[in-house]
Amino acid sequence: MKFSFVVFAFTMVNAPIVQAADVNVYSYRQPELIKPLTDEFTAQTGINVNVAYLQKGMVERMKAEGRRSPADVVLTVDISRLSAVVNEGLTQPVESAILSQNVPELYLDPNGHWYGLTTRARIVYASKDRVSDGEVTTYEDLADPKWQGRICTRSGTNAYNVALTSAVIHHHGEEGAKTWLQGVKDNLARKPQGNDRAQVKAIWAGECDISIGNTYYMGAMLSDAEQKEWAESVKILFPTFENGGTHINISGVAMAKHAPNPETALAFMEFLTSAKAQEIYAEANHEYPVAPGSQASALVQTWGDFDPDQVNLMELAKLRGLALRLTETVDFDG
Ligand code: FE
Repeated sequence: MKFSFVVFAFTMVNAPIVQAADVNVYSYRQPELIKPLTDEFTAQTGINVNVAYLQKGMVERMKAEGRRSPADVVLTVDISRLSAVVNEGLTQPVESAILSQNVPELYLDPNGHWYGLTTRARIVYASKDRVSDGEVTTYEDLADPKWQGRICTRSGTNAYNVALTSAVIHHHGEEGAKTWLQGVKDNLARKPQGNDRAQVKAIWAGECDISIGNTYYMGAMLSDAEQKEWAESVKILFPTFENGGTHINISGVAMAKHAPNPETALAFMEFLTSAKAQEIYAEANHEYPVAPGSQASALVQTWGDFDPDQVNLMELAKLRGLALRLTETVDFDG
């Protein structure tokens, strides 16, 4: 692990005894998303938040640190990463009336090891010119030969796509999912490559008509001078499963197993789930806040409404291995 990624500001000497403990956060999320939140928390409580921004290796690092880990709280995205820290035994269960009031059951670990903060939907970006509004209604439809040579996507082994494939397994079983993967592969305009935004660029460039991507990238592209044009060439369509809703994933928070400051950690977690904090967060990340009474940003609301699929993400996390195997069986990226 390179320390250049790490921004720690410990105040260890000469701290007045009355000073509340800090809270130390390990984050896979970027500073521009987290800073407005930590500033607000510190303003409300006087508790300092020290954030280590990591790009990778959180699990390895926490394992190596063991009981001496300074981490109180872990912030990350995607059920695969959340379940990885939990499965490695690096978190502790948290019970709190405020947390369970603020986070709907669908977006928390039934055992209390993590709580969701915001959701993102995995949707279809469609060319404004070449795809009409009702043309994509379901995920199943993406395997229909009418899309032959018209779909772009990133690698099937990327965590976002693995979670989507896990949802396909949940709804249609192993064989159904394999058939779906093969069908989508057969419809690809090019081999999977690049990230979600690169697919929208390919639509803009005329290489394909639809792509699979996360909702918040629309917000990210619109705020980028070069990518704005790509974003403006597409619209968001919210597919559902034939027997379910729109596939979502989450950003979430967990308390570290060896948190040195469990009280301030809990206070920070409770703050993060409050409607006010969620709206600050959702404004910065273009995601959907989960707290009752909270609203998505004005921009995000213009994309339209959707019904999230009603499967607890821990169910999908269990199907991850199988989803990866099926992706490799059909040689999705090949
Ligand atoms: Fe992303």
